[in-house]
Amino acid sequence: MKVPNDKINVMISYDEMQSRIKEIANQINKDYKGKSLLVVCILKGAVLFYSDLVRMLDMDVRFDFMTISSYGNSTESTGEVKIKKDLDNSINEQHVLIVEDIVDSGLTLKNLKEVLSTRKPASIKVCCMLDKPSRRKVEMIPDYCCFEIPDKFVVGYGLDYSEEYRQLKDVCFIDPEFAKTL
Ligand code: 5GP
Repeated sequence: MKVPNDKINVMISYDEMQSRIKEIANQINKDYKGKSLLVVCILKGAVLFYSDLVRMLDMDVRFDFMTISSYGNSTESTGEVKIKKDLDNSINEQHVLIVEDIVDSGLTLKNLKEVLSTRKPASIKVCCMLDKPSRRKVEMIPDYCCFEIPDKFVVGYGLDYSEEYRQLKDVCFIDPEFAKTL
């Protein structure tokens, strides 16, 4: 279903996001100074955030990408992680930073962290663009987070509704009444 333009409103502008990513990148640069970092992008939602973030990092950085999906129906994640595209390389003894679009129930990231931890990385941390703490079902505190947001359905800056709207420049929310009909 197409969402009418007047039902899509800006929540966080591109400029606000850019300056916040800069702050987060500065913190990551301090925390990993002198180390090399494997930065893992969770496709597809995190891709724009990831590409902004990695360009602001100044340690040795390597890229890898993962596509995961959660079992269950489309609106509620069960958190059981199904790996659709795995990492290309081993993470053994690497410092790993997982870059995710949004944390909601927390189930996906909690399970993903558990799966990746069995591969014996030197360390593993999570950086998310957005966090909806009020929706949490399991404990999952991202190590780095750009913005905490209220319980609204957001699109843009990589985030989709039915594979559309990812290219919107700003993080936008869909009118909550309209979102109920989706
Ligand atoms: P969790 O396992 O934390 O409940 O699920 C997180 C995943 O749900 C995110 O990676 C994202 O794919 C999806 N998600 C949660 N909230 C939103 C939202 O407001 N908008 C979009 N587009 N996806 C969301």
